[in-house]
Amino acid sequence: MDTNTPFTGSCACGDVQYQCQSAPLAMFNCHCGQCQLASGGSFVSAALVKESALNFISGKAKYFRSLGDAGRWTDRGFCENCGTPMFAKGEIAPGLISIKPGTLHDKTLFKPTIDTWASRAPAWLHLDGSIPKADKTPNLLNHKANG
Ligand SMILES: [Zn+2]
Ligand SMILES: [Zn+2]
Repeated sequence: MDTNTPFTGSCACGDVQYQCQSAPLAMFNCHCGQCQLASGGSFVSAALVKESALNFISGKAKYFRSLGDAGRWTDRGFCENCGTPMFAKGEIAPGLISIKPGTLHDKTLFKPTIDTWASRAPAWLHLDGSIPKADKTPNLLNHKANG
């Protein structure tokens, strides 16, 4: 993996600043209904890392728990001050946390390798035909970020 570590990021107001010590284990776009709501847009992009590799330089996220389309809980973390969606951790992946790549200081770090819940994507969204599509949430660790 060629991701430079540690890598860093922050929310829009700067209250929440993080550093991650290891490269993402998977990078994906999720089009499920809960991700649409949580993003306020049409999908969530996420870089999955070990929760133990993520440290906070300042502040911390506030979490909201929702039940996903597969009936499992997901805790979604955002900055309490500015509302930037930043993290998610779920029942499906204990010990892992996903980072929303819009919060990365180096945006080039994020390279998705799969679209999950792709059938829920709106008809107008042009999905990258060169990466796999999944109907639900497969084991993302089978889709290594570096191909
Ligand atoms: Zn903030
Ligand atoms: Zn989702």
